[in-house]
Amino acid sequence: MTARPDDRRAETPQAASTGGLNRVGPLTRRGVCVVLASAPGVGKTSVSRALLEMEPDLNLSISATTRPRRPGEQDGVHYFFKTPEDFEAMVAEDSLLEHARFLDRAYGTPRAPVVAALESGRDVLFDIEWQGHRQLREKLPGDVVGICLLPPSMAELERRLRGRAQDSEAEIAKRLVVARDEISHWADFDHVIVNRDFDRTVAEVRAVLHAARTQRARQPWLPGFVATLLQD
Ligand code: 5GP
Repeated sequence: MTARPDDRRAETPQAASTGGLNRVGPLTRRGVCVVLASAPGVGKTSVSRALLEMEPDLNLSISATTRPRRPGEQDGVHYFFKTPEDFEAMVAEDSLLEHARFLDRAYGTPRAPVVAALESGRDVLFDIEWQGHRQLREKLPGDVVGICLLPPSMAELERRLRGRAQDSEAEIAKRLVVARDEISHWADFDHVIVNRDFDRTVAEVRAVLHAARTQRARQPWLPGFVATLLQD
């Protein structure tokens, strides 16, 4: 989980000014899990980055993986890079909320930072693939909003994948196969956005996040608040 110096909580109306609300405990909303999934090359990393800059209460979940570090990636920032043995140990001790294999490598979401964030009213963004999204929904019922980004066309997707200097030709071919598989799971998601225009996509993802924050289930203090309203 990225540390944020201005780690502000999403406070609701102050208890002090509304007497009876003291009875309902700390007035902090529950955080939401926003999963942004897409085939590789559709642009979810850029969209995630833009969103994290705009939203101080949103933190990126940092995954564990057994894949090798790419140039420019830092351990603990982009991923927690693990040996297969260490990854298996995390699975065995149930410290991952979900895990899946992708191109013969293991990826998984550490549980503790997500649970802590949700309970303290911070939202978590996940850059994970469809199997992880499915598992997360089962593990955290009601807390997950899934967004699938689609490419405007397969030709455009291939062009974007070829534009990445980091991957070999063989890797690109494998990623195209994986891309088709990821796209085929589009109907698992609550929201589907075709990434034709970057700014528009960011605005739409942001709108989903903002709407999720006002869901009834995100505001456990509401029953007490409304009871107090109706007493007056
Ligand atoms: P990459 O190796 O390109 O960083 O990521 C490969 C794929 O693994 C991407 O689709 C990415 O979203 C997915 N991924 C990254 N972290 C996780 C994770 O913790 N769980 C799951 N299920 N997928 C992940």
